[in-house]
Amino acid sequence: MEITFENKRKRMVDEIREEVTYTRHMIHRDTLSQRVIDAMMAVPRHEFVPPDMQTYAYANEPLPIGNGQTISQPYIVAIMTELLEPESHHIVLEAGTGSGYQAAVLSQLVKTVYTVETIAALGEEAARRLQKLGYDNVVIRTGDAWFGWPEHAPYDSIIVTAAAPMIPPPLIDQLKRGGRMVVPLGSRFGQDLVLLRKDMDGKITTEVLLPVAFVPLTGDHLTPRTPDDSPR
Ligand code: SAH
Repeated sequence: MEITFENKRKRMVDEIREEVTYTRHMIHRDTLSQRVIDAMMAVPRHEFVPPDMQTYAYANEPLPIGNGQTISQPYIVAIMTELLEPESHHIVLEAGTGSGYQAAVLSQLVKTVYTVETIAALGEEAARRLQKLGYDNVVIRTGDAWFGWPEHAPYDSIIVTAAAPMIPPPLIDQLKRGGRMVVPLGSRFGQDLVLLRKDMDGKITTEVLLPVAFVPLTGDHLTPRTPDDSPR
């Protein structure tokens, strides 16, 4: 049998499903929904990695995408997508566009994906790529995703794809009542994937799911300011 990208993608999805089974006690789900499986099958991940990485595009691993950043592991993309419980009328915000792969997966499942990337070169490359591939319901902006994208709020769900030391309060504000947010919470050395829910009364609950390793969410707002920082 000829090894095509599609064959490789099918194998990748099989591996993801297997890993979901192994980790079901952490993610509180036995299987991925068919919609998420279909979206993972549909998006050509090899188009989202640099040319010299294309042969590895369907390994269940994160890969470098330039500028010191990475495209997340496919299993992580799949479960984060699943945890958002995407529906076709949803408006979703992503913090950390990177390659645009996660946004492309979500774009198959929801109405519109708004995504914010701090490194202009990456955001521009992702925008070109998504346009070329025909993902026309993804909108990208260069900026600091800590502050979300208030103009399109509130969002049905929010996905943070860089490690944050705390859940950015502006993102909690921009989440709809009844909405869900997934965020890798911790330091650059390791994080827990946290699922946050806002109920219909606006009450917030959080649940720690599994250990993950994302690149940090950068930005000034994260620098602790203590009295010692003041000029002498
Ligand atoms: N979702 C991406 C992977 C994200 S890697 C994909 O599917 O490929 C994390 C990304 O978050 C990097 O591109 C990084 O530049 C970006 N990032 C880091 N801090 C950020 C911030 N404060 N605002 C927006 N993007 C940020």
